[in-house]
Amino acid sequence: MILDLIEIKPKINKFKVFMCIIIILLLLCIPIMFIIKDHMNKKLNNEIENQNVLNENNNEIIENNIIEEKEEIPKVNLTEIGMQNVKNIYKSEEKVAYLTFDDGPSKTVTPLILDLLKEEKIKATFFVLGSRVELYPELVKREYEEGHYIANHGYSHVYQDIYSSTQAVLDEYYQTENSIREALGIEDYRCFLFRFPGGSSGGRYNNLKSQVKDILEENNIAYVDWNALTGDATGENLTKEQMFDELVNTTSGKNSVVILMHDAGDKILTYELLPQIIQYLRDEGYTFKNFYSIIQ
Ligand SMILES: [Zn+2]
Repeated sequence: MILDLIEIKPKINKFKVFMCIIIILLLLCIPIMFIIKDHMNKKLNNEIENQNVLNENNNEIIENNIIEEKEEIPKVNLTEIGMQNVKNIYKSEEKVAYLTFDDGPSKTVTPLILDLLKEEKIKATFFVLGSRVELYPELVKREYEEGHYIANHGYSHVYQDIYSSTQAVLDEYYQTENSIREALGIEDYRCFLFRFPGGSSGGRYNNLKSQVKDILEENNIAYVDWNALTGDATGENLTKEQMFDELVNTTSGKNSVVILMHDAGDKILTYELLPQIIQYLRDEGYTFKNFYSIIQ
């Protein structure tokens, strides 16, 4: 019995020592856990900070891209030099092509042409009708913001109205200019460039058109016709092949070509033919420009 008691005593002591070690270990673990937790937090914070910096950089890159995509729109003014440039537009040492689109904007064709010009990085000139500008002001704004030149083609395109008097031409010009101003939200916007519906000479209104030319000049307004075309408004419903042939024939041997086309709602063939026209002109060594390059 006594022997038994002697044996139990060291057993209890061993147990106590064991428990003590466990407790000490546990106590040691607590600060270690805090240190690990602290370390983990710091690591997590660093990662979040790095991610934020990355996001900020990405945002800056996106912002820069947006800034790059936004066109710098030149402030238009027509000086005597600019007026002479327009008059001499067909005289050029270099091969230059001015793509011009009349009678728009239209809901169906204009956006397609704008998409294509954007893809091809080409700036064109749109001779808009005031009556169409009022229908689709957002398209005129888009044309302008994408770096195309907005020029004036009168308001009605009804010959007996616009050519009823010299004053009627001037009235339609200014009415259209007002519509463009409202569409663009630019109060002092001026076109400086007019294209006579049907051209600046010939036909039954030839005499009146001659008088209008002088009046336009007095009002510091230039005018331009064309020296090449696809025939997309001849009324003969040409096929794409015929229109392409017409373009090849009318540009042949010319350094500076002002090409008449149309972006009215029924001119889907003009849009469909445009990639081929652009490719042809590029292969022939033409550079594309619009009237911002000569109206100054
Ligand atoms: Zn027209």
